[in-house]
Amino acid sequence: QRPVPSDIVISRSGVPKPIDTLAKEIGLLSDEVELYGKTKAKVQLQTIERLRSQPDGKYVVVTGITPTPLGEGKSTTTIGLVQALGAHLKLNVFACVRQPSQGPTFGIKGGAAGGGYSQVIPMEEKLGIEKTDPTTLTEEEITRFARLDIDPESVTWQRVMDTNDRFLRKITVGESATEKGHTRSCQFDITVASEIMAVLALTSSLEDMRQRLAKMVVASSRSGDPVTTEDLGVSGALTVLMRDAIKPNLMQTLEGNPVFVHAGPFANIAHGNSSILADKIALKLVGPEGFVVTEAGFGADIGMEKFFNIKCRYSGLRPHVVVLVATVRALKMHGGGPTVTAGMPLPKEYLEENLELLEKGCSNMQKQVENARHFGIPVVVAVNAFKTDTGAELDLICKLAKEAGAFDAVRCTHWAEGGAGAVALGEAVQKASEAPSNFRFLYDTELPIADKIRIIAQKIYGADDIELLPEAQQKVERYTRQGFANLPICMAKTHLSLSHEPEKKGVPRGFVLPIRDIRASVGAGFLFPLVGTMPTMPGLPTRPCFYDIDLDPVTGEVNGLF
Ligand code: ADP
Repeated sequence: QRPVPSDIVISRSGVPKPIDTLAKEIGLLSDEVELYGKTKAKVQLQTIERLRSQPDGKYVVVTGITPTPLGEGKSTTTIGLVQALGAHLKLNVFACVRQPSQGPTFGIKGGAAGGGYSQVIPMEEKLGIEKTDPTTLTEEEITRFARLDIDPESVTWQRVMDTNDRFLRKITVGESATEKGHTRSCQFDITVASEIMAVLALTSSLEDMRQRLAKMVVASSRSGDPVTTEDLGVSGALTVLMRDAIKPNLMQTLEGNPVFVHAGPFANIAHGNSSILADKIALKLVGPEGFVVTEAGFGADIGMEKFFNIKCRYSGLRPHVVVLVATVRALKMHGGGPTVTAGMPLPKEYLEENLELLEKGCSNMQKQVENARHFGIPVVVAVNAFKTDTGAELDLICKLAKEAGAFDAVRCTHWAEGGAGAVALGEAVQKASEAPSNFRFLYDTELPIADKIRIIAQKIYGADDIELLPEAQQKVERYTRQGFANLPICMAKTHLSLSHEPEKKGVPRGFVLPIRDIRASVGAGFLFPLVGTMPTMPGLPTRPCFYDIDLDPVTGEVNGLF
């Protein structure tokens, strides 16, 4: 087998077509496109209006089994599948992915828009896309707005920045003498954890964004009433700052298919899906025979559940197919294989055939297939092949996936071979998109908050029950009183297990899910129960990726990305 070069080497080897050429190819008019250099453009929202009478294309969501910390290839499969459907099966296609966050890129995870011969190019540019995110509730605002009677202890609105800086997890502000003793303890979050990012991802128009930005609750008054951005008088200015960010960013795959890279909300305290607007524009552009492939973050128990119950609820869009990515390595881990750690060599169990471990671990995939089927949409399992996997291992996964009720299960090699390696997957997805489906939400938003959380915990995670700890109980009462009880639920749970304990692999049973606290993103439109503690400002590893990043002064190229 030919060795696969690093992601950045592959990215550079692909010559992107001028973005205005691509825009023309996919039917955009020149006044709908704003060029940002030669490889990126923003697409105006008026495109949806122009194509209003055009029927939407087929809508596919890519999700995964419970992953190892290394990631099992959802982004790579999203791009590989689009390359297969586009360049090889000659259909109109679009991929919609999240914007990589600078924090992880300079920290642990790399570029985060696919890999191998299935990625968005140019890699450097994916990181360069601007993120507008103006967020602070200053002490001045707290004191100046005396009429709002803000309780300083209740401020939930944090400052944000897009770099990992763990020492900002808790800070004291207002130390200068000019601040006249208004010191306060607060924190920085990473940009993608800001509610504004979730608003950007869930909004359906400029008007809707203005309303969502106005509804964000930043604190409570001393009498317990919510204080919003509109109360502070900043939501109009915020909308002005976000007016360009709302337009999806057009880029392309290595094989020249269009990609929207737009919005990147956290997948735990937010819903971890790219923007509704990008999906909507793409569905119009591809036309009724075309395919839009969008990706949901984390495993199916989190990203896909939120995709359906939050994103689809707000967008009104109904997907035709779920693609569930599985890997031999993650399934072996679920079968009891040794711990997999980022940056460490894989233990030998993962490098040699071991059908017993694999078969045991397939329980996790089977549960995630069942989870997708709760929503009534056909599931195609994509077995993302690594060079150490054996044919018998890949066949076993396909067999067990079909036994669990998957519409189909196919092995794919798009990481090593690009779109050509995902043609079978593309054909299976095309067939599944024509199969009957019967979409349903998991819960009715009018149910009481605790009932909605219990339904997710029992049906999706396999918990016996939930336990609301005192702080969570108080919040249930507060949000019910404040009129927020009918929002959908966005669980902030570890993605490394179906349960709340990351070390419990496979399909954990006999557990009660503890709900520590519940917070509200009223503008974005969800309540987020905290299962355990969720750091909203990541730290850096001992050897962060940024040690390797540099600019070649001669060519102007960025080195050190992978
Ligand atoms: P996810 O989106 O599920 O987090 P990614 O698609 O980002 O996963 O893949 C995680 C990492 O694994 C990336 O660095 C990617 O290049 C690599 N990868 C994915 N599939 C394969 C494969 N089949 N063989 C080797 N490396 C792969």
